[in-house]
Amino acid sequence: MHTNLQELIENKIRLPSPPAIAVQILNTVQKKDAAFTDLAEIISADPALTGKMLQIANSGFYSFKNEVTSIERALTVLGTNIVKNIALSFVISTELRGERQSSFDFEDYWRRSITSAVAAELLTQQLDQKNEDMFVTALLHDIGMLTLFMHSRDDYSDLLHKSTLSDQSLIALEREKYDYDHQQVGAALISKWGLPASIHNPIRHHHNPESAPENCRETTKVLYFADQLSTIYNSSDAAEKVRFLQNELAEYFSLSPDQIKTLLDEVAKKSVEILKTFDIEPGDMKPYSQMLQEANEELGRLNLSYEQLVIELKEAKEKSDRLANELKDAILRLNDLAYTDALTGLYNHRYFQDSLSSELARAARYHSSVSLIIFDIDFFKKVNDTYGHPAGDQVLANIGREIKKAVRPSDIVARYGGEEFAVILPETDINGVKVFAARLRRCVEGIITQVEEQQIMVTISVGGTTFDPEQTEVRKNTLIQTADRGLYMSKNNGRNQVVILATENAPLS
Ligand code: GH3
Ligand code: MG
Ligand code: MG
Repeated sequence: MHTNLQELIENKIRLPSPPAIAVQILNTVQKKDAAFTDLAEIISADPALTGKMLQIANSGFYSFKNEVTSIERALTVLGTNIVKNIALSFVISTELRGERQSSFDFEDYWRRSITSAVAAELLTQQLDQKNEDMFVTALLHDIGMLTLFMHSRDDYSDLLHKSTLSDQSLIALEREKYDYDHQQVGAALISKWGLPASIHNPIRHHHNPESAPENCRETTKVLYFADQLSTIYNSSDAAEKVRFLQNELAEYFSLSPDQIKTLLDEVAKKSVEILKTFDIEPGDMKPYSQMLQEANEELGRLNLSYEQLVIELKEAKEKSDRLANELKDAILRLNDLAYTDALTGLYNHRYFQDSLSSELARAARYHSSVSLIIFDIDFFKKVNDTYGHPAGDQVLANIGREIKKAVRPSDIVARYGGEEFAVILPETDINGVKVFAARLRRCVEGIITQVEEQQIMVTISVGGTTFDPEQTEVRKNTLIQTADRGLYMSKNNGRNQVVILATENAPLS
């Protein structure tokens, strides 16, 4: 560390002292000759520290055949430097845990740092590099943040908050506020604590490895990537970060996709184990491949429920179509009921009135003719009196059916009322209606209604008229009155005959 910068930082920021036991450990290691036994003594004096040291020694980071059961044994198999680094990691991370109710999330800070340390160790192993200081370097890489927070709590909390909201990097915001960033402050602190340049140099440059001195550039790169690997498991947007890392790791270290995948998963698995040793809750940290699998399963479930939804929608649509059709049929049936006469099956008086209006309007519009016939059964009272009312009904029904057969599909046959009927004949002129009326009279004359042993026959008197397209205005009632008058004349003339009148009331034949 550059002395001037070190002094400048020390003048501005009070750098915290290392924990007492850390000082002891560091002092001991510096005295090279006595290091081994003294270090064993210091650590063994702290049962909690001893327990944790042995947990780490047996964690699988270091592959030993036999379980490491004592600090002496750990020192023999791991070497003084590794034991020192593990001890320092525990001591520092335990001492600098902070208060529970703090605006700085110490738990989260150490979770990130420990995950970084694990990632750095694994990446070093993956690259077949040897760096005994890697774990502690990564563990302490952001210690400058802790230092800045302790120096000016509220200001630094605000700054952290601001960096999550703004586009500006934390480094830039720190420099703006303090003149130094957490890399520089961290390196100054580590240097002051007497740890070697091989540890504080990478910390000094961990956001920009290219700026690190040549001799520690590789370590700085590992630290940089370890920091990135840790964010995958400690922040959102994991997928995007993984994509970025996959490219970068392949480019910088020529790692294969499989190696990267294994590394990613190992970081989570190992971190969960090591975090517990450090008494930090791992939260729901799980291997990236498992996160992916769970995401895919969730996607599968969503797809499944989507398909289910489509099926249900289709069923609902079919049901509603069916109901709509049934409703349409019901409406048609209702219309039929509203427009038909139950006894004869012919149209009723109401339909006759509506049809005559529309046929007249149509004829006027297209300059075509429309004819109207009204007829009445002769002496029908006598039929009822002689054969009974039900027999009379049968006669009416029978006549209705037979007339229906005798007309064109476009003709409208209606029961006008009682034993009186009407036929509307569209597109039929005066000659046409005369021919038709005569045929109709003959037709009814020939109808025999068989009631038990009896054969009932009736005749009709017919009146008719025509709307001529030359007539500009003919009202419906005039047409009906004219036809009625023809019918009345037929009755008066002796019944069973036809009288067709022009609407001027003059007889046409
Ligand atoms: P006319 O030749 O002058 O028409 O004599 P008519 O007996 O047919 O005429 P009138 O108006 O005196 O009698 C009509 C009869 O038609 C009386 C009535 O009971 C009968 N009638 C009307 N509607 C029905 C019906 O729905 N069923 C039966 N069975 N008879 C009906
Ligand atoms: Mg009659
Ligand atoms: Mg009558």
